[in-house]
Amino acid sequence: MINVTKTYLGDVEKFKAYVDGIYARGWLTNHGPLVTELEARLQDYLGVKHVLLTNNGTLALQVAYRALGLTGSAVTTPFSFVATSSSLQWEGIRPIFADIDALTWNISPEHIESRIVSDTTAIVGTHVFGNPCAVERIEEIARKHQLKVVYDGAHAFGVRHAGQSIFHWGDLSTLSFHATKLFHTIEGGAIVTNDDELARSVYLLGNFGIADVDKIVGIGINAKMNEFSAAMGLCILDDIENIFTQREEIAERYRTRLGDYLDLQQAEADSQLNNAYFPIGLTGESQLLRVRAALNDNGINPRRYFYPSLDTLDYLQPQAAQSTSRNLASRVLCLPIYPGLAREDQDRVIDTLIMECSQGRISYNDPNLAQVI
Ligand SMILES: *Cc1c(COP(=O)(O)O)cnc(C)c1O
Repeated sequence: MINVTKTYLGDVEKFKAYVDGIYARGWLTNHGPLVTELEARLQDYLGVKHVLLTNNGTLALQVAYRALGLTGSAVTTPFSFVATSSSLQWEGIRPIFADIDALTWNISPEHIESRIVSDTTAIVGTHVFGNPCAVERIEEIARKHQLKVVYDGAHAFGVRHAGQSIFHWGDLSTLSFHATKLFHTIEGGAIVTNDDELARSVYLLGNFGIADVDKIVGIGINAKMNEFSAAMGLCILDDIENIFTQREEIAERYRTRLGDYLDLQQAEADSQLNNAYFPIGLTGESQLLRVRAALNDNGINPRRYFYPSLDTLDYLQPQAAQSTSRNLASRVLCLPIYPGLAREDQDRVIDTLIMECSQGRISYNDPNLAQVI
């Protein structure tokens, strides 16, 4: 089966050499030398001041909310992985969903303001599929209403906007380095900030509040990355340009051959994306189910990222229906994209899709699209 992604495993000999070093030192976790080295290399690579590595992307979000002192509620996107909003709820912060933009698929600045209530303390956006949120407009809204901004950048490794890393926007950004992500450390994540004081808070919160031997300064949790994970990250970072190039080649091929048949996510202006995913929009759920079945029959396993729309989850407080998000969640499928995906497998994906989608084809530039879907 060709899956939506395949974990990139770098050179095993290089990994083994790092493991030999870990054995020689006997230092397995607690801010070891490989974690420190990876943090420094990521700061340099991403062009940001502080990268604090964590043991996963979900705890990175939770620690980020704590570091900013969020309480009450946060306005967030219903079109994301469940962790974006469940991490808020876990921290006792009510997620309030604002609908997404029909073209970029990110939280829509037009909808954010009307969702802010008296106890709202933050806006939490996801750069979904690596497409930057409307960061300038969100910054204005946040300033006007004195809100903090957190970006779930789990998909946005290496993404740039307006000539700099996307992680320059927001008070804090988080990353996931789970094995399914473009850059990974088996399990892992990071919190990124340019603010020294926030970086210090993040460090303490992720280390039980322990400032120094014999000195505990506040509540904390264990969000530390271990040395084996950092070793994996160091190996993969060496190959990152090749990873981007291979992904771009596949994405370009999909775009060229499928663009006329499908609805594709529109990139935010002045942005350089990473092709972490290749999402396609079908005409609706019935076509999606048909297309998925046809792909499955051909040995291809695409995934429904992100389904269901998070405003439908019944363990969160009842939410107003976010119609654009629900519509998109019902018809978006992510196609296989990863380094090493063979040409003939790409063709099998493309040919199956063209076969399924060329009947009843609609133009997505049609202003009456809303009626068609
Ligand atoms: C993967 C992901 C997370 C969670 O990261 P983990 O490292 O798996 O905990 C959070 N948000 C988004 C958008 C993700 O895709």
